[in-house]
Amino acid sequence: MNEFVIAGAQVFDGERRLGAVDVQVANGVITSVGGTRVPGAAVVDATGATLLPGLIDAHTHSDESALRQALTFGVTTELDLTSMPEQMMPLRRVATGSFDMADVRSASVGLTPPGGHPHQLRKGMDGPWPTAASVAEVPGFVAGRIAESADYLKVMIEDGRVLGASVPVLAQDILIAAVREAHANGLKVLAHALTLEATGLAVDAGVDGLTHLFVDAPHAPKLVERIAAAGVFVIPTLSTLASITGQDASAALAADPRVRPKVPPVWLDSLADTWRTLPQRHFEYVLASVSALRAAGVDVLAGTDAAHLGAPGTAHGASLHGELRLLVRAGFTPLEALRAATALTAQRFGLADRGRIDQGMRADLLLVDGDPTADVGDSLSVRAVWRQGVRLDLEPVTSIA
Ligand SMILES: [Zn+2]
Repeated sequence: MNEFVIAGAQVFDGERRLGAVDVQVANGVITSVGGTRVPGAAVVDATGATLLPGLIDAHTHSDESALRQALTFGVTTELDLTSMPEQMMPLRRVATGSFDMADVRSASVGLTPPGGHPHQLRKGMDGPWPTAASVAEVPGFVAGRIAESADYLKVMIEDGRVLGASVPVLAQDILIAAVREAHANGLKVLAHALTLEATGLAVDAGVDGLTHLFVDAPHAPKLVERIAAAGVFVIPTLSTLASITGQDASAALAADPRVRPKVPPVWLDSLADTWRTLPQRHFEYVLASVSALRAAGVDVLAGTDAAHLGAPGTAHGASLHGELRLLVRAGFTPLEALRAATALTAQRFGLADRGRIDQGMRADLLLVDGDPTADVGDSLSVRAVWRQGVRLDLEPVTSIA
């Protein structure tokens, strides 16, 4: 029986600080928080460290190496928001039973019209994609994703402009039909929207969450009100919007000695690079919008849009820590930012077994030096990571890349 107690750490349970309490684990599950120690259990001395729930990145495009790298940064779950099903769905099954990679949930392939986003980014890389060109094709599309065991439905509302392209946009009647069909089948709907207009269309259609934040325009109080009134959650992906607007946030991350040994050189270069398709001032718009969402009580979740090579400005695992810093820059307290990467995301995605340190939860845990609830930058000072109670070997990987 794999039984141990993590002792001496300050505990952040996903919602709040509990102080220095014992966290006991047996067979992959947290068995007590602050309870009496079971005699004979191994003790992990965590003095001077903070224990957090394993982090959840609410927006990625994953593969096996991505999930392995993510786990070294304490990201124990990635929520994939469009991947090709023939690669992703077998990986999702493998990840469920593995202890050396992050767990993953996936939308499988997102709904886009023929030739729609992100076809322009994936030229020559994939086989033919399932799409829907009319309302009549929507039930078949949704049934296809359900047959693949997709965890939620992703829809693309994108004309390509913000990414420097021009692509066909999903018609609004198809979007509305997709939301209805997904909800009738118990799936949440997540919408990719990078503009004010697309965001309004997504909210009108009744989606559950937005997988980015509009970046084309200054803060729009009316739209924020509509998002709040509709109860829609938002994954702003500040990491990616920083890249689109040419900020240097990810370059600092790529230079960090706590990041470099865990990320292959080609990925460090990509992390330090940016899309730069919009003027820099647009990032100030985004920060103001995120601040307004927070003030309006909207659930803001931490997600990066870390994807595959070719999408500059992000790297799996590392970028979620960058996202926490950017949320703090937008006015979040460190505690609020950490909630956005743990309990809040688990709650909004219906992941009832994770995101919190509590009796009966999965022992997905991150131990860091220092106190990220006071200085969020400490989240990168990873001392140990456990996935379902199994401690990850944190040997550097650069030498084999
Ligand atoms: Zn994405």
